[in-house]
Amino acid sequence: MTQRRYLFFGAHPDDPDLLFGGTAIQLARAGHAVQFVSVTNGNAGHQSMKPAELAARRYEETQASAALSGIEEYRVLNHNDGELEPTLAIRQELVRLIRAFRPDVVITHRTCDYHADHRATGQLVQDASFLVGVPLCCPDTPVGDTAPVFAYSYDRFQQPRPFRVDAAVAIDAVLETKLAMCDCHKSQFYEWLPWCNGNRDFDASRMDAAARREHLLRGWMERNVRQAELGREALRAVYGAAGDGVRYAETFELSEYGRPVSIEEFRRLLLP
Ligand SMILES: [Zn+2]
Repeated sequence: MTQRRYLFFGAHPDDPDLLFGGTAIQLARAGHAVQFVSVTNGNAGHQSMKPAELAARRYEETQASAALSGIEEYRVLNHNDGELEPTLAIRQELVRLIRAFRPDVVITHRTCDYHADHRATGQLVQDASFLVGVPLCCPDTPVGDTAPVFAYSYDRFQQPRPFRVDAAVAIDAVLETKLAMCDCHKSQFYEWLPWCNGNRDFDASRMDAAARREHLLRGWMERNVRQAELGREALRAVYGAAGDGVRYAETFELSEYGRPVSIEEFRRLLLP
């Protein structure tokens, strides 16, 4: 087997898990190298904690999730949550990170996603995508032999155009592990996100593991059900008739930047 390498840039510590977790588990189990990067430290995602203690807690959450997933590394860059901008300094930071990891595939948010940090992350990765191959940019880090393929993870936003499903990956077989990864991010799924979504009385302290699983399944994995429905044609293309029975999927859109590949090759690249 030729080992492939995957790099996911999310804005916050939990975005890679939600958007790429199931695919990453399967790739890692098959022996491929996967790295998650959170471009911010997540220090604004809570209603009562202080930023520094929140960043430390969220870092621990990423490491617990990484240990369950089998990925090589879950990096958290030290940029403030809610303040990310597509600056030259961070663009160069990402160029160096991409060159050092030598990924076959780089995945990130689209630049029409809802959160300013998601948009900035998408912009930074797009801005890095060409410069990764320019030796005089960041000359301290050598350019690799092969340009990576760039891609976007799913979002539900319609303007300026809806997400296009170019590839879909069935995650039913690893759903429990993806749920366990999300369960590591307790500061988010049981504290901040319910509060942020208007549920001010949400009390996770009384929830046992089964109740937490149910909360994640009903509240968060529905978006993977939606992706399976949107991606049915792409699922059939890779799994044949079995594609009709897939309930949970993660979907990806091929970027025009980076190494050009056919849709068929793109789909194969995301399978273990
Ligand atoms: Zn996020």
